[in-house]
Amino acid sequence: MLEILDGLGVSYKSVSSTIEEDTVELIKQILEEEAAGGAAATTDAAPAQNQSAQPQSTQTAQTEAQSAAAPQSAATATAEREPEVAAPAAPETPHRAPVVTIMGHVDHGKTSLLDYIRKTKVAAKEAGGITQHVGAFEAKTSKGKIVFIDTPGHEAFTTIRARGANVADIAIIVIAADDSLMPQTREAIAHAQAAKVPMLIAINKVDLPQADPERVKTDLTQLNLVPEEYGGDLVVVPVSAKTGEGVEDLLEYISLTAELEDLRADPKGNFSGVIIESRVDRQAGVLATVMVQEGTLHVGDFLVVGENYGKIKAMTDSGGGRIKEAGPSTPVQVLGFSEAPASGETVLSAKNEHAAREVIAQRASDRRDAENARVQRKRTLEEMMGP
Ligand code: GDP
Ligand code: MG
Repeated sequence: MLEILDGLGVSYKSVSSTIEEDTVELIKQILEEEAAGGAAATTDAAPAQNQSAQPQSTQTAQTEAQSAAAPQSAATATAEREPEVAAPAAPETPHRAPVVTIMGHVDHGKTSLLDYIRKTKVAAKEAGGITQHVGAFEAKTSKGKIVFIDTPGHEAFTTIRARGANVADIAIIVIAADDSLMPQTREAIAHAQAAKVPMLIAINKVDLPQADPERVKTDLTQLNLVPEEYGGDLVVVPVSAKTGEGVEDLLEYISLTAELEDLRADPKGNFSGVIIESRVDRQAGVLATVMVQEGTLHVGDFLVVGENYGKIKAMTDSGGGRIKEAGPSTPVQVLGFSEAPASGETVLSAKNEHAAREVIAQRASDRRDAENARVQRKRTLEEMMGP
């Protein structure tokens, strides 16, 4: 559907966007033609004697083909036309899972919602696996994998963004149904808008007797955010982190939004990632959570962050299991940095220790040049100002 819309040049904002009646008719027509084209191609490829085996489909295919565009007779269509050989598809960059952040006012239920999703959607850990905070987790849903960043949403998102990296693809704004829009809700909305990240609204705590989801929708409309049922494009999902009501719908909307975003990354490309968080463990050393954005990370790779580098000694997935490699949209905890990198820093990999050191030397030299230039400017300015 979306491919057809793109082809027609029809713009859409979200999965709940409405389309004109005329467009609907056009899409129907295109789909019918495509179906007919598919059938005709099958007939062409099939040896002639097989035609009697499926007289009905052949008939339909020919009629459709004629009415669509082909001026040839039915006979030429089947007997003389070269079988249509599909052009070899260019190797497409594969899709990747969406990375989602949850933001909203304090006590509106961000942690509870994440906990509910984690409890119900994350496969049970293997016996002996260590449960530790990684700052992100992968939820398995019927629509595929969704990665949630669960470092206290707001701060992580803003610090990471402040460093120029965009780690989230979709923002969920949690609004408590008994409290409606609050200062941090507006802030969260502003952040998502500034980052140009699509947002979905989860109206939480709908299980409460005093819940008033309608008021939340009206209040949103006042911010020019118009819920779909009021004729707008904003997806609003009523949920309860307590009972689980609506959570499945929310996950489905996340997947649909991700489809619209057409998120892709090449697991075979050059690696790049972002630090989600890091900490120093007394025994293990520096543990850093890296979100793989492009390429694949392997144990033994050299990573460069700022003017630091490290060799990956071990990696764990968000479930605590040891892994040897991690592709795009995978949060991994990495052991091997000598100093804790800051969240939001970008990570690159180097072939070997020598290459890693070269990158760092270059960065250090660039930094010194910039510092010298700054000092020089300040001196010149002071000289101009006189004694
Ligand atoms: P956060 O500050 O946004 O992370 O909010 P929390 O997840 O810590 O939740 C704040 C309070 O609201 C806690 O007491 C939760 O138990 C409660 N809470 C969260 N979600 C729901 C819900 O869906 N229904 C009800 N009744 N209480 C909820
Ligand atoms: Mg919380």
